[in-house]
Amino acid sequence: MKTSFTGKRDKRGDWRPDEVIQYAPVLAWPPRLMDVLRWLFGYPGFFLPWGIVYMAIPVVTWIWLTPAMDTMRTFQPGWIAYIVIRNLVMVLVIVGAWHLRLYVQKAQGTDFKHTIKWPARDNPNFLFKDQVLENLFYTVASAVPIWSAYEVVTLWAYANNYLPYVSWAEHPIYCLVLMCLIPLIRDLHFYAIHRISHWGPLYKYVHAVHHNNVDVNPFSGLSMHPVEHLLYWSGVLIHWIVPSHPIHALFHMQHAAFTPAQSHSGFTKVVMHDGVEVKTHDFFHYLHHKYFECNYGGDGVFPLDKWFGTFNDGTEASTEAMNKRFFARMQQ
Ligand SMILES: [Zn+2]
Ligand SMILES: [Zn+2]
Repeated sequence: MKTSFTGKRDKRGDWRPDEVIQYAPVLAWPPRLMDVLRWLFGYPGFFLPWGIVYMAIPVVTWIWLTPAMDTMRTFQPGWIAYIVIRNLVMVLVIVGAWHLRLYVQKAQGTDFKHTIKWPARDNPNFLFKDQVLENLFYTVASAVPIWSAYEVVTLWAYANNYLPYVSWAEHPIYCLVLMCLIPLIRDLHFYAIHRISHWGPLYKYVHAVHHNNVDVNPFSGLSMHPVEHLLYWSGVLIHWIVPSHPIHALFHMQHAAFTPAQSHSGFTKVVMHDGVEVKTHDFFHYLHHKYFECNYGGDGVFPLDKWFGTFNDGTEASTEAMNKRFFARMQQ
């Protein structure tokens, strides 16, 4: 199905879609029931295409790619190394697929790309003087080990019955609802840690690593300081309290691992060979990398940036209002 929309490129080469960024209609007032149903079950919507894809990955991982519970009852180097390598391969394949299509094959050139620039090379601001290599370094050396550490301890705790466990067979509705709530819980958690990360010292020593990427690419998504990775994956600890199945915990961690590739893809949409276009939801977070002072959360159900006065919907008027707010604060 086509989701076609147009946009404009300015003199600097920055492209913006004509479509104004909008939150999901779930909390709209007055209620818009038909719009909510369309958002939930329509295309593009909550489930299609991305929701189903990201929910299927942890199910496959749990059934075919996770060691037996008996094995995980004690910490042993064999299964721990397996989890780390499995996660490394998954992240390289999934983020690599975005990178390969958009940045190596350049399958759609700069069509729907937010800048005309490509990732920096021979630039001393980046480790190894190369933006993608710096991004890969933080992904492989920090993101994967820290995410895997959370996963190993969580699976070990499930294997020893230390965590509140719920079975899909006995409580299928509860399990399904919790599955659907995980992206929403992640939105709230991400907004909180991201706002904190913009506090002076934490920004300077930690979050600046991520913002070294003004122009983003799929591997920028997990390019963060290890302290930020610790905060970023801490959301999974909710499953230590709320009765869950290991699939929920896996989904929570994998959602954090895989979705940044699309929200940092650098493109508003991906155009497939057969003309099918898939929205990436990148523009919302791209504006955060471009302007810093806006769009700390996501463009999902909770309009957190709207509530806290930091929403930029991508229009020139919204950017002007954001600049005015910024200068007013500077003069205080
Ligand atoms: Zn930030
Ligand atoms: Zn980012």
